[in-house]
Amino acid sequence: MAKNKRGKALWRMPSRARGTCPLCGSTRIKLLYTAVGAQGEKLTVCKKCQGKKAG
Ligand SMILES: [Zn+2]
Repeated sequence: MAKNKRGKALWRMPSRARGTCPLCGSTRIKLLYTAVGAQGEKLTVCKKCQGKKAG
């Protein structure tokens, strides 16, 4: 497996893998992990929120 969460791969992602975490509200954080939203949708979240369930 390639290191998809490190190095140059991040720069190829939209907004360079950074944004505001929908769960904890941290800004300009790396959003590389998934959590489950209130309707069962997948959310892109920060490391702290990885695996969390919203709502
Ligand atoms: Zn978060």
